[in-house]
Amino acid sequence: MTVKPLNTLSQSSLQDYADCPRRFQLRYLEHLQYPAVESEPALENEKHQQEGEYFHRLVQQHLIGIPAEKLARLANTPNLQHWWDNYVAADLGLSGYSLFPEFTLSAPLGLFRLVAKYDLIAVKPGERAIIFDWKTYRKRPKTEWLAPRWQTRVYRALLVQAGANLNNGSPFNPEQIEMVYWFPEFPIEPANFPYNATQFKRDWDALTKLAGEIESASDHPKTDDRQKCSYCPYRGYCDRGIRAGDVADAEAEMEAEELFDVNFEQIGEIAF
Ligand code: SF4
Repeated sequence: MTVKPLNTLSQSSLQDYADCPRRFQLRYLEHLQYPAVESEPALENEKHQQEGEYFHRLVQQHLIGIPAEKLARLANTPNLQHWWDNYVAADLGLSGYSLFPEFTLSAPLGLFRLVAKYDLIAVKPGERAIIFDWKTYRKRPKTEWLAPRWQTRVYRALLVQAGANLNNGSPFNPEQIEMVYWFPEFPIEPANFPYNATQFKRDWDALTKLAGEIESASDHPKTDDRQKCSYCPYRGYCDRGIRAGDVADAEAEMEAEELFDVNFEQIGEIAF
């Protein structure tokens, strides 16, 4: 099996490593594509994932100035229409902010480069920065489930570490940063995560430690927590069950939603 050197880390690869080193190995070192059928019902999940990608693109187009009325015509499935209506009706509090949709930041992390692609960073230079992430989940995850996810930690920490260009050349103080997960299916139940210097230090120290572990790892064992295998697309490689969700609990189901989440790095261009 070819193992290419890994140069970058992202919230998804870090989450995979934390969840199961074997999954990290298969996905990021051996570059095995996710098998086509990830879970049942496969077609429904695939459609939901495509709608999620399309929703992200519609919002991005709106944020760069294309009128909502023009984009509304492209929200052409019941889910998309419902999400789009909720988005247009929502007050995300963006008035007075400079908007940076689909923005990439990166910074050195050990021997790697940590990279994050943000759905939206809204900035009032010298005052405040709000990170928005659109989540087209079918269930509203518990806020306590989201808090320790690597995305929540990486996105805020990296904005402190690498966001000076968005703040007139000065790094943001952690206290100026907040992250908001906004769910088009649950528009009045966003999950908000403010930040502070203690959390930033904790996160950056943890990221540095994890990058060191990944760098020096000589093997990539399967997770002991078989719940993590319930919806994992690589079950077939690990002899961990054939049917999805055989031993699933609520947390595993939420992790499945995350696996089918829009992976911004994989969104192709959608022609308008
Ligand atoms: S099936 Fe289980 S052990 Fe195998 S990669 Fe997935 S989570 Fe890891």
